[in-house]
Amino acid sequence: MSIVAPPLSIALAPGSLTLQWSDGTSMLPAALLRASCRCASCQTARLRGEAVDGGAATLVDALPVGHYALQLRFDDGHERGIYPWQALRELGVSAQGPSTRSAAAKGVERGQAPASADDP
Ligand SMILES: [Zn+2]
Repeated sequence: MSIVAPPLSIALAPGSLTLQWSDGTSMLPAALLRASCRCASCQTARLRGEAVDGGAATLVDALPVGHYALQLRFDDGHERGIYPWQALRELGVSAQGPSTRSAAAKGVERGQAPASADDP
């Protein structure tokens, strides 16, 4: 189990949580975080196979837990979800999806033709 260093900074907004890592940034929508809530009742619901709906939940507070996690409070009363840095990083990766490269290799740009010496 690898140790994930805490983010350099945490920016909390009602609709999202932005984490600045040493090697990048994760922007996590509140609904995604809520759907991934790790509190006891949500864990139980998942074990029963019930879907946990992120819905329109918004973030109220984010409290560091030791050096390994963040406790998130939502406006719908869920406030016991502990999100280890590792889980937050993985959420960020899945939220952004696979990195898309610019498909077209713009090696050839048609601009000015090389000026050739004018023939007489
Ligand atoms: Zn919950």
